Amino acid sequence: MESQIKKIHQQLVSKQITCTALVQEKLDLLKQNTYKSVNSLLDTLALELAAKVDAKIAKGETIGLLEGIPFGIKDVYMLQGTYTTASSDLLKNYKSPYTATAIQKLLDAGAIPLVKENCDSFGHGSSSENTIFGAVKNAVNPELVAGGSSGGSAVNVAKEYTVFSIGGDTGGSVRQPAGYNHIYGLKPTYGRISRYGLMAYASSTDCVGPLAKSVEDIRIVLNVMSGKDPKDQTSIASTEISEEVIATSTIKKVGYFKNFIESDAIDAQIKADFLASIEKLKAKGIEVKELDFFKSDILVSTYYTLAMAETASNLSRLDGTNYGNRIEAENLIETYAVTRSENFSEETKRRIVGGNQVLSQGFSDEIYLKGLALRDQISENFSKDFEEVDIILSPVTPSTPPKIGDSLKDPLAMYLSDAYTVGFSLGQLPTLTVPQGTSTGLQITAAKNNDELVLKFANFLKELI
Ligand code: GLN
Repeated sequence: MESQIKKIHQQLVSKQITCTALVQEKLDLLKQNTYKSVNSLLDTLALELAAKVDAKIAKGETIGLLEGIPFGIKDVYMLQGTYTTASSDLLKNYKSPYTATAIQKLLDAGAIPLVKENCDSFGHGSSSENTIFGAVKNAVNPELVAGGSSGGSAVNVAKEYTVFSIGGDTGGSVRQPAGYNHIYGLKPTYGRISRYGLMAYASSTDCVGPLAKSVEDIRIVLNVMSGKDPKDQTSIASTEISEEVIATSTIKKVGYFKNFIESDAIDAQIKADFLASIEKLKAKGIEVKELDFFKSDILVSTYYTLAMAETASNLSRLDGTNYGNRIEAENLIETYAVTRSENFSEETKRRIVGGNQVLSQGFSDEIYLKGLALRDQISENFSKDFEEVDIILSPVTPSTPPKIGDSLKDPLAMYLSDAYTVGFSLGQLPTLTVPQGTSTGLQITAAKNNDELVLKFANFLKELI
């Protein structure tokens, strides 16, 4: 698909449509939708901003490419004055006191926020069922899950209720729902986009990531949000990715992880489709190399060990005193306990308990430090791989989206659905889901800071597969 941003920009500039009409149409669609993708609508703000864009156009002033473009925000980003609930009871009434850097940059470029989007509570999940607002339904088949945790964001883009949405990806939460809903979703190199104002899940892998319907729209939004931010010490400087540079491919060597494809857990059709995509690459003269990697269960357990430890630590501040709905009990300790046990979901509590166990005296050497050591080994493995290949191609998920309700019955099975996404998160690599190749898409990964190459290869695949 071509760039929706450019198309709408043209329509606005040539006065084919007004920004107010566009925003109103999208707000109506969001309000009426039955996919449970919306936590709160930002209608007053959106219409105010749209009127300003219309006034500028009427006066003959030029507008920027993102000016007047409607977008959605996963409900874990601060936008001053709006509810930021993380789809949780604890923060159901919490209003953002400030705005996240990534969102501020989009506002500065003139983009119009329409909606805070439904997601798994605090990013904990792979199906967008762990939410107080009701399970998000898949855009392609509403009996299935939307994927998670950025499920509402993926559905809004897929149904064209938003032109693009901003999700968050800690272990696959942008890429997996993008795959389940047949759109693009990017997890940039860790640090390329500031995390300031994104509610922390696992700080060492949390990434801000755009979801959209074209590579070009991903590129435009990525460029705007990127950059070093004094408010996030892990953020890094990066150079803009130009449309021309990613238009022609220079990629010669592609690798894939043999054990991902040979695993018993992979769906037979996904495997066959993935291997057919590999054949198409070979037919184009690309050299394809089979690579060795850690087994998926090691990746999943390393990721969940570290993610649970980090989330237990990050969420300790939510005790009803500084943040969150407080439930008074007999004394302070009881108040903390009741507030947290009543207001966190089962899945979030599982992670807090697991994480505190991992970090506790007597266990941390055995479990947490081992997790850190494995993470280093995984990064080293990637560094070696990228000496041999330019791109690693993989399926996004081992199987197709489950029916709504199934993942809640079997959390372990849900954790295993992250088998192909979490490794790249631990390596802090740039990785993109494209809606091609298998029924849940393909994942394109490059070496750290090589986000440009990922987009370049995505453009190349567009014509090939
Ligand atoms: N499904 C993974 C988890 O629950 C990833 C979530 C995410 O990236 N926020 O941890």
